[in-house]
Amino acid sequence: MALRLYNSLTRAKDELKPSAPPKVSLYTCGPTVYNYQHVGNYRTYIFEDLLVRTLNLLGYKPNRVMNITDVGHLTSQGDEGEDKMEVGAAREGKSAWDIAKFYTEAFLTDCRSLGLLEADILCKATDHIAEQIALVQKLDAKGFVYKTADGLYFDTAKLPDYGKLMTKEHLEGLKSGARVEANEEKRHITDFALWKFSGAAKRQMEWDSPWGKGFPGWHIECSAMAMRFLGETLDIHCGGIDHVPVHHTNEIAQSEGATGKPFAKIWLHGEFLLMNNAKMAKSAGGFIKLADLGEKGFSPYDYKYLCYTAHYRKQLDFTWESLESAKTARRRLKESVAALAGEAPKPGCAEYSERFKAALADDLNAPAALAAVWDAMKSDLPGGSKKTFLEEVEAVLALGLFSADAEAAVPAEVVVLIAERSAAKAKKEFAQADRIRKQIEDMGWLVKDGKDGSKAVKK
Ligand code: AMP
Ligand code: ZN
Repeated sequence: MALRLYNSLTRAKDELKPSAPPKVSLYTCGPTVYNYQHVGNYRTYIFEDLLVRTLNLLGYKPNRVMNITDVGHLTSQGDEGEDKMEVGAAREGKSAWDIAKFYTEAFLTDCRSLGLLEADILCKATDHIAEQIALVQKLDAKGFVYKTADGLYFDTAKLPDYGKLMTKEHLEGLKSGARVEANEEKRHITDFALWKFSGAAKRQMEWDSPWGKGFPGWHIECSAMAMRFLGETLDIHCGGIDHVPVHHTNEIAQSEGATGKPFAKIWLHGEFLLMNNAKMAKSAGGFIKLADLGEKGFSPYDYKYLCYTAHYRKQLDFTWESLESAKTARRRLKESVAALAGEAPKPGCAEYSERFKAALADDLNAPAALAAVWDAMKSDLPGGSKKTFLEEVEAVLALGLFSADAEAAVPAEVVVLIAERSAAKAKKEFAQADRIRKQIEDMGWLVKDGKDGSKAVKK
């Protein structure tokens, strides 16, 4: 079955035609590791995981690269402001390197708890500075680079089709001056930094280069690492929708400027998770981490189910009510699995398997795929056939249907209260122990006393 994907470049659903089938080269922009990722970020990684698993379902052999941005991503979308890594380091009183290590681990832990497949190659920007410098040199030799007081810039006017990924709205925004630049030496508003000089600033992360000590611009890492690991033309490049007008537009400029070849055949973009009708973002309020869901008694898989209820190209508004509905729906599916425990898997579910596959092959239509799952559960298929189908579904949607959910993480405040209650009991202060138990219950947890001590379980 052919896979059709909405290509932001052609603005149409294109059939995937890999350069070397069944292999599919895939680059997915990864996290900037200066803080925890929020559940909005994970919406993008969940859609990319669905893409990888759909490729597997359709018989392809995806080779996925994901980068870890651990240098050069500045606090503005442009080239001004501070490096987010250095900001994180100052905030926490640690080194930028320690911050990167800590938040990379936190990211990978979250991905595991969401059941996301690891990328085949996970690469850090700081491990590939030499390739980034070499790419800037190549661009320089081709006349795309000019120097200002604070760094080297890409001259976007030199590339005739610069901005081809942008929509009409993006271009109109540019014309009306939505992007304000402080650097007066920049020749054009769309020009962007390839290499920035450390200058007088005290930086923890800096490298020698042919142009002086400094650090790479944010976009160059993705071009350099994508081409290093996957070649000059990728089959698919993915990321969140915010990357279209700047990051991905500039990745195209750098890569195509250097090679003269198309950088990626298909550009795939996931829409935003919203909160109160605004993009969920670290800078704005309402930043929800994956661990926050656990503290409220949700499994990461409940959140994943919620993501599947909307097409990846539609915005999704996060509410606790919708997460509760997703939890209930997922629990019903788990109950179906449990009810089929005694059944031996049998064939006979082809009608539903085909519907499920066709839905995903049509631009990863997860809501339609879920509808096929529910119809199969409601049908009069024999139990064994339902079981076979659910196994197929689990391999693609990875909703934790066949395993017990991990117990919800107990919040630190509850852990402290449990210890205080045990101490009160040991001193035979039973009225105080009961008061603490009540307090814990009010926080949504029950106290279970056992021979190994007391523990909290979610109400
Ligand atoms: P960052 O760590 O900021 O570089 O972002 C990591 C990924 O999350 C990128 O692909 C972003 O486009 C994506 N992203 C950021 N905010 C959201 C959001 N609210 N909803 C969905 N994806 C997002
Ligand atoms: Zn990128």
